Amino acid sequence: MQWIATSACNLTCPHCYSSAGARAEGELSADEVERLVVDELVALGGPMFVIAGGEALLRKDIGRIVATAHARGLRWSVHTHGGLIERRRELFAAHPPALAAVSLDGPRELHDRFRGREGSFDAALAAVGILKAAGCGKVVLGTTVTRLNADRLSEMFPTVLASGAGGASSPAAGRPASRGWSRC
Ligand code: SF4
Repeated sequence: MQWIATSACNLTCPHCYSSAGARAEGELSADEVERLVVDELVALGGPMFVIAGGEALLRKDIGRIVATAHARGLRWSVHTHGGLIERRRELFAAHPPALAAVSLDGPRELHDRFRGREGSFDAALAAVGILKAAGCGKVVLGTTVTRLNADRLSEMFPTVLASGAGGASSPAAGRPASRGWSRC
């Protein structure tokens, strides 16, 4: 079960299907998440608690929520752009996720341009190492295929293979719901 933890994000990808940026009004509080999401998942027998966003690691209370889920026996996973993994290192060491999916959309120059922030590519690859060292069950690199990167995917293979990630996935293609569909 996937929980969209927040609409907040510090990147500006044109393919973002949630048009992430600012935190949305009415996002659940930590108390509400524990009661309405975590407790319900436990009652359902404990399906994987998938945390996505926006960038979920921007939530100040994400450590509390993960700790609660972990204490109640839920396996959890996270979708992230990877840029905040370093500052959340202790969270991942204390509560290693079963799976982490880190976004990588192309070679360095293309990825950074696409994500709207220089250094995003290096941060994503560094995140793989940090997550593996923390004991994350599996780390994968995920690519959204668009017109901007479709002909450059093969350039990524050496990087992906050298990254230490346990796999790569391309679960989504840019779609009309994205904020910059016409540019993707
Ligand atoms: S990093 Fe993810 S949530 Fe943030 S803008 Fe890009 S696609 Fe959207």
